[in-house]
Amino acid sequence: MDFDTDLAETWIRTIATAVEQNRTHLTDLDSAIGDGDHGSNLQRGFAAVLTALDDLRPDTPGAVLTKTGTTLISKVGGASGPLYGKAFRAIGAALPGPATPTTLAEALAAGLDAIRTLGKADPGDKTIVDAWTPAVAAFHTAATTGAPLPEAAAAAAEAAEQGALDTIPLQARKGRASYLGPRSTGHQDPGATSTALIFRALATTTAT
Ligand code: ADP
Ligand code: MG
Repeated sequence: MDFDTDLAETWIRTIATAVEQNRTHLTDLDSAIGDGDHGSNLQRGFAAVLTALDDLRPDTPGAVLTKTGTTLISKVGGASGPLYGKAFRAIGAALPGPATPTTLAEALAAGLDAIRTLGKADPGDKTIVDAWTPAVAAFHTAATTGAPLPEAAAAAAEAAEQGALDTIPLQARKGRASYLGPRSTGHQDPGATSTALIFRALATTTAT
């Protein structure tokens, strides 16, 4: 199974649904250690993405993901908009046509690089990087050992979910939550949680 334009568009639509369903949860997590807007930020962003995709009728996976990224950057005011926006733009730039699992692994790694270039967060700083990093590693390991797309995506989703859980004891060193210092410990990072939704959506989309 290749990652083609249809799968790319279904992935983004599945993320939009997951964000809508988890909006309150994401906002509650952000209320604990941020300003309580993560769910509404992403809901507004992905609603705009769906409209943009309807208008565009993209014909490559890259076009779907680049449009997604550009729309998130322009519609989401919070830190997560530019970070996810740049990530999707980087993934899109790496997918000019239907992609094998190995090519998609490289594209997802380019997405992580874009997040880290913009946000300057390291693993352990209690950010989206803490879910994105293990997800990319798991996808890459699966793809390079010959796993088909659904298997690689499932491994990435599990790793992202574990990465999000593993943010609970961490003290935030980047973003709004870092203002709380030690009081940011004991809470799951909202951004790492939405990253887990993004990778779970990829697994759902590609499941055979
Ligand atoms: P804001 O913090 O501006 O209100 P959101 O609430 O939408 O934006 O997003 C908050 C999430 O953004 C945090 O939970 C964290 O995961 C992520 N984040 C914040 N700063 C960074 C950064 N520098 N690098 C990576 N992720 C970050
Ligand atoms: Mg916020």
